[in-house]
Amino acid sequence: MGRIVQKFGGTSVGTVEKIKNAADRVLEEVNQGNEVVVVVSAMGKTTDHLVDMAREISPYPNKREMDMLLTTGEQITISLLSMELNERGHNTVSLTGWQAGIQTEGVFGNARITDIETDKIDKLLSSGNIVVVAGFQGVSGGEITTLGRGGSDTTAVALAAALHADKCDIYTDVTGVYTTDPRYVNSARKLKSVSYDEMLELANLGAGVLHPRAVEFAKNYKMPLEVRSSTEKENGTIIEEEISMEQNLVVRGIAFEDNITRISVFGLPLTGGGISSIFTALADSHINVDIIIQSVTGENETNLSFSVKTEDVKETLEVLEANRDKIRFARIETESDLAKVSIVGSGMVSNPGVAAQMFEVLSSNSISIKMVSTSEIKVSTVVSHSHMLKAVNALHDAFDLSDALAIKNN
Ligand code: ADP
Ligand code: ASP
Ligand code: MG
Repeated sequence: MGRIVQKFGGTSVGTVEKIKNAADRVLEEVNQGNEVVVVVSAMGKTTDHLVDMAREISPYPNKREMDMLLTTGEQITISLLSMELNERGHNTVSLTGWQAGIQTEGVFGNARITDIETDKIDKLLSSGNIVVVAGFQGVSGGEITTLGRGGSDTTAVALAAALHADKCDIYTDVTGVYTTDPRYVNSARKLKSVSYDEMLELANLGAGVLHPRAVEFAKNYKMPLEVRSSTEKENGTIIEEEISMEQNLVVRGIAFEDNITRISVFGLPLTGGGISSIFTALADSHINVDIIIQSVTGENETNLSFSVKTEDVKETLEVLEANRDKIRFARIETESDLAKVSIVGSGMVSNPGVAAQMFEVLSSNSISIKMVSTSEIKVSTVVSHSHMLKAVNALHDAFDLSDALAIKNN
């Protein structure tokens, strides 16, 4: 007998019919003698609809009330799934995040899980229950918090780690992790396995199939994950520590995201702490800065460019202006409608020239690169949004991600 955590995303529980289908998948594991904890998301686009309603009231709704509102979505799904399992003759208990003992830091909207008290779930499992837990939510000092959009994945993996589960299955609307988003690239191919590090890069760089913090938990606790379809029976993608390199693919996947803006600050003094003041002020305002490029232009003068999410531009400019005395810049320019396209693969560590190949491919497709950033296992480029999918397709072909050989070996 094993212990398994299963997670069903929004599309997989989008209607009562789909909830019944999810119940089938739960009972397949139960009937094999496993203890099962199920984590569910809100039905379909429920969370988006709740956000829209709040925005009809205020562009910046009160964050506590927002979490109070958004957590209701998952509460609908847990009760319906639990009722369905009950109808089929099984003992089940649905639990909200706080009832499941999921403690978070005291931040509304994007809290990290700090601890999970597992006694209650352990007892419920030992007495023969299927436990159905609301994803995406926790509690901090008596207040309900949420884990950030897509956070149900993190609830599932964190619970799997805390409950010492044998595995965590993420059921979704694709059959696994693909070389790139199959919704946008027809030739995208399902990967048999991906390492935690590669998946973490892909998730952080825009591959929305898994919440980055879920991958972080999986890596830290060495929890095997499988991303698989809630409707197709085929095997999914395994995410684990060591994966076979038999396919010799240097690049394993391509991630992309849009809504990126470049902010260029001109005429900064090189000395006097102006540069650090920029990033301290932005960090104090919880604005995430991504790629940073500095170019020295004179003896004591430098220009600096950095990228932020477009939704943060207004606040970024306000923060820079408010700190102008400390930063001492001459002028600021912004360029919006940009996108980030990244190639990821552990094979890059031992294969020099991958970045050069990427730049060549983009240049031969007349795509100009606005910014670059690299790590051991990824190269990211910022390009114009209108070039994003052209870049992804060209790179997907150039790095053999869809070729017949790769399919055979993978
Ligand atoms: P869920 O509601 O089940 O959490 P999500 O919409 O969050 O589902 O994640 C699944 C979606 O992730 C897919 O429909 C797909 O469009 C997108 N996606 C992005 N990158 C990838 C990738 N590399 N492989 C598979 N799916 C991806
Ligand atoms: N329902 C939440 C969202 O839509 C959490 C999740 O689905 O993972 O973001
Ligand atoms: Mg998701």
